Amino acid sequence: MQQVLLVRMGEIFLKGDNRPQFISALVKRVRYAVKPLGGRVESVQGRIFVHDLGENAGLAERRVSRIFGVHSLSHALEVEKEMPLIEEAARELSKDLTGSFRVSARRADKRFPLDSMQLNALLGGVVLESNPALTVDVKQPEHTLTVEIREKAYLHMKKIPAVGGMPVGTDGKALLLLSGGIDSPVAGYQIAKRGVELSAIHYHSFPFTSEQAKQKVLDLAAILAEYTGPILLHVVPFTRIQQEIYDKCPESQTTILMRRFMMRIADRVAKENGCEALVTGESIGQVASQTLQSLLCTNAVCSLPVFRPLIGADKTEIMDQAQRIGSYATSILPFEDCCTIFTPRHPVTRPRLEMMEESEAKLDVETLVEEAIRGIETLRIRAALRN
Ligand code: ATP
Ligand code: MG
Repeated sequence: MQQVLLVRMGEIFLKGDNRPQFISALVKRVRYAVKPLGGRVESVQGRIFVHDLGENAGLAERRVSRIFGVHSLSHALEVEKEMPLIEEAARELSKDLTGSFRVSARRADKRFPLDSMQLNALLGGVVLESNPALTVDVKQPEHTLTVEIREKAYLHMKKIPAVGGMPVGTDGKALLLLSGGIDSPVAGYQIAKRGVELSAIHYHSFPFTSEQAKQKVLDLAAILAEYTGPILLHVVPFTRIQQEIYDKCPESQTTILMRRFMMRIADRVAKENGCEALVTGESIGQVASQTLQSLLCTNAVCSLPVFRPLIGADKTEIMDQAQRIGSYATSILPFEDCCTIFTPRHPVTRPRLEMMEESEAKLDVETLVEEAIRGIETLRIRAALRN
């Protein structure tokens, strides 16, 4: 009798022609997550099994349940397909339970001599006899003993839900503009959930913003990496650009001008790194730089598509999601962001594109962009090991 972690994939993508590609991307992600825990991964007929976890099974559960493409998991007992062994496993799993139960058997291997109804009846009897604290209730039981007859027999008492989505790496790569705030990590999460690999870019205004502010962004990237796998993070020195804007352009326009530089640089870095889209945490009307006219002005400098998965979300909805994915507590740490420092007292909310272009004519845009890109520090961020 062996303890295994049984991993179920989303069913939808298992049907198309891309099936082998999806499965291998998912297996790769699972392997990456459990390797440091000593887990051995095996993929057979639409299921992934992780063996040899020992006392790391709980840790593996938390890690694997965060992998996009994983639908649910179970800690199962694996035995050979022989009735005495299956019965022994059923007794083992139910020995400490009280209340009502049923057996739910599935015979994927049709050559097995007993069908699912027969298995239900037989194993129900075995469990009842070995544990007098249990009663049978087939409609609304407190416990369900699931039995799957495949290459081997798998028995478990619980299905643990996972994040769902598509395995990262099955649909291209995008560059996430990652600030230290609440929104952008959630935006990145949503796009990665659809199978898109993420790189990230962060604009840092040292010495106006501290080392702690940068560390916070590294921490947020590490939280995202729990779901997406390792993330390349490009840290861009942004102080000179901000100072130039501050010195030469109208104060009310500083935020939009800054945002245009961010998008311009991101667009270029994305293309240089094989990314096919940009991702931001913008949401209509959240701040002055996110009105429709402002979005038009910032969008105008991009050649790649810009994905804004939170565009129609309320702040409270975004905060709830940040809580669920585990980024919220880090996002609200009080270290200043480069935007907050140069925030104008009265920002324009209806900027006109020509106005922005006129202001930028006072700057050497090309040189500023090139200089910033030359100063980029690129870091490979791995999943946080806090779990
Ligand atoms: P967030 O809550 O994610 O920090 P925000 O509320 O601060 O966003 P803005 O400052 O207008 O809103 O930024 C809008 C988007 O621009 C962010 O969601 C993020 O994608 C990007 N962004 C803002 N600041 C930075 C930064 N310093 N580095 C990288 N991207 C940034
Ligand atoms: Mg925001």
